[in-house]
Amino acid sequence: MKTINTVTGTTTAEKLGMTLMHEHLMVGWGGWELDCTAPRFERKAALKVATDRLKELRDLGLNTFLDPCPMDIGRDVEFIAEAAGASGIQLICTTGLYKEDLGNTAYFKQRPVDEISAVYVKEITAGIGRTGIKAGAIKCATSKGKITEYEDKCLRAAARAHLKTGAPIMTHTDDGTMGREQLDIFVSEGVELKHVIVGHSCGASDLRYHTDMLDRGCYLGFDRFGLDILHPDRLRLAALIGLLGIGFERQIGLSHDSVACWLGRGLDLTPEMEAGIRNWQPTHIFKNILPAMRTAGVSDEKVQTMMVENPRRYFES
Ligand SMILES: [Zn+2]
Repeated sequence: MKTINTVTGTTTAEKLGMTLMHEHLMVGWGGWELDCTAPRFERKAALKVATDRLKELRDLGLNTFLDPCPMDIGRDVEFIAEAAGASGIQLICTTGLYKEDLGNTAYFKQRPVDEISAVYVKEITAGIGRTGIKAGAIKCATSKGKITEYEDKCLRAAARAHLKTGAPIMTHTDDGTMGREQLDIFVSEGVELKHVIVGHSCGASDLRYHTDMLDRGCYLGFDRFGLDILHPDRLRLAALIGLLGIGFERQIGLSHDSVACWLGRGLDLTPEMEAGIRNWQPTHIFKNILPAMRTAGVSDEKVQTMMVENPRRYFES
C-alpha cells in the first residue's frame, strides 16, 4: 500500500475520503515581505481564518484538502500543518515552482533541470526545509498561450521528480490554454498521464480542448468554481455537465482555487471585481454547484466518483 505525505504525517489513498483537490490557505506574491507599508501579518488571526474555513468544510463532510501552493508564492507548510491539526482536515502540500510572470524565478532560472528536480525530490522524501513536513504532490505551471523556457524546465523537473518518487503532478494553466502542450512535455519525459491533473481546465469551455486531453488519460481540474471574474461559473458548469454526460466522471476533479489568507496587501478589487468573486469560497461547490448539477440530472454516484474515488486513484496509482 502506497503511503501519501500529508502535512501532519502519512496517510493512505483509502483514507483520503471526500477531497477538494485545489484550495489554498495562504498565498503571497514574491516581494510581499519587502512591503514595509503593508499591514503587519498577524499569524494568529490568519490561522483562525484558515482553521474556521477548514472546520466549515469538515462539517460539510470534507476529509482532505490539497493545497498546491508552489514553493515560491508564500508557501508556509507549518501554517498549513497547524491549521490541519486544529481542524481535523487532512492537508497535502506540494513542492514545485509557479509560472514565470508571477513566480520568484531569478534563482532557478539559472539552475539546470536536474538540480530543480533534485530539490523537488528532497522536499518529497526528506521534507521541506527543517520542518520535517513532506510534500505529497508536485506543482508546475504555464502562462497564457505559451510555455516559456523557464516553465518548460520546471515541467520537466516535475516529470523527473514524479518518476523518482511516484508523487503525482498538479499543473496550473491560464485561461484554459496549453494543457495539451503540458501533456506533450510530460509524455516526452516518460510520464504516464494518469498521474497528471491539468489544473484550471475549466478556464475554457472548449470541449474539443477537454476531450483531446481526457482521451490521453489525464485528469482535468474543474477547480476554479466561484471565479466568475475569470470565466463564468455557468460556462464551467455547462462544460462539466456535458463531459459527465458522455462518461468522463472518472477523470475530473472539482475545486475552487480559493485563498483563505493573503500575505502583504492581497488583492485590490473594484466593486465590479468583488461581484465577480462573490462565490469564491471553498464551500461554494457543496452549497451551489452540486445542487445545480443535480438539477441537471447528474447522479450522486458521479459526484462521489469525482470527489472521493478520483483523488484516491490519483494518489494511489
Ligand atoms: Zn491554485
